[in-house]
Amino acid sequence: MHPKNPSCGACHGRRPDTPLLDSSFPEDYQAPYMAKKRDYYEVLGLQRNADPSEIKKAYRRLAMEYHPDRNPGDKSAEEKFKEAAEAYEVLSDLDKRAHYDRFGHEGLRQAGFEGFAGVDDIFEHFGSLFADLFGGFGGARGRRTGRPRGADLQVDLDLTLAEAVAGATKELQYARRLACETCGGTGMRPGTKPDRCGTCGGRGQVLHSQGFFMIGTTCPTCRGEGMIVSDPCTDCRGAGTKERKETHVINVPAGIDDGQVLRVIGKGEVPPRGGTPGNLHVVVHVTPDERFVREGYDVYTEVPISIVAATLGGKVTIPTLEDETRGSAEIEIAPGTQPGTTVIRRGAGIPRLDGGGRGNHVVQVRVEVPRSLTERQKELLREFAAEAGESVEEARRSFFGRKKKK
Ligand SMILES: [Zn+2]
Ligand SMILES: [Zn+2]
Repeated sequence: MHPKNPSCGACHGRRPDTPLLDSSFPEDYQAPYMAKKRDYYEVLGLQRNADPSEIKKAYRRLAMEYHPDRNPGDKSAEEKFKEAAEAYEVLSDLDKRAHYDRFGHEGLRQAGFEGFAGVDDIFEHFGSLFADLFGGFGGARGRRTGRPRGADLQVDLDLTLAEAVAGATKELQYARRLACETCGGTGMRPGTKPDRCGTCGGRGQVLHSQGFFMIGTTCPTCRGEGMIVSDPCTDCRGAGTKERKETHVINVPAGIDDGQVLRVIGKGEVPPRGGTPGNLHVVVHVTPDERFVREGYDVYTEVPISIVAATLGGKVTIPTLEDETRGSAEIEIAPGTQPGTTVIRRGAGIPRLDGGGRGNHVVQVRVEVPRSLTERQKELLREFAAEAGESVEEARRSFFGRKKKK
């Protein structure tokens, strides 16, 4: 697997209508917050029929009260701040709210909703909302503005249909840039100090005159940092980051489809000299299985039956998705079954990602008309036709049958 930058446009056939799912590693799934989660309406102190403006108002009140800038070092306030943000994230989104109303916390979790890992996550996620909610107070938090974010990475993950149906735990191997261990990400040889940039005198900006005005632009020598590393770290050659091979285990949810992308927060590249790591995008490719054609959460299987079975009835064996697609089932063919008849095996299709049960397995009957017959078979069919009072145009039959002479 080779990491690629998802912004490059090489999208690997990802259909634009496929959702981005958040996913995480098993250790995150086992986080204790899953065990006892408070009801989101209870968290925000709302009735279940609260309207969007009430939800926003309730969240604003709690976010102000438990804002980390107002409660420095208070862990329980931080937990409340996170809890409220998560409740707001769900209840302010019509789709997520409807899903939560129906399936609760577990339904959301199965749909890939993870909540927030930490306070920084919340500020990043809500960004402009905070400025809007607080009208300036505690908005994006000064120290965070301009904090660099590392590049997102993309890896491809191949799954069999059985794995897509049942879910799978997969090991991903990819290369990503992480902070250099030798210099701790500074890019400097340990024990040395950076020099003040001579071009801008440490201001990070250079001034140009433009007519009567002086215009400041980012210093081209230090790229705005004001400092120059004159004695670079020999390990990373001053970059501050080094490419390392990473192995991560990802839980692929049951029901994932070809082209869908699992987003793993924070597993992308670490920017040079620190900042927020980017995300890892795992593009799922499901190897087609010719026995099953997927359509949403339903699968279609075509079974050929003879005209005799269609007419007299019988049993056919069909492949099933149960038992990792190795299973089979017998279905009854009723006497007089017409071509194109479908038999629906309810709930035997693909599990829904949102946890709402499974789609159907639709078995389509294809009646096969024999292409070549023995003389005896032809004789019997003519007899059959005579019994049914049908006159057979032998000339036409031989015209069509000419190519098929043995
Ligand atoms: Zn280094
Ligand atoms: Zn400079």
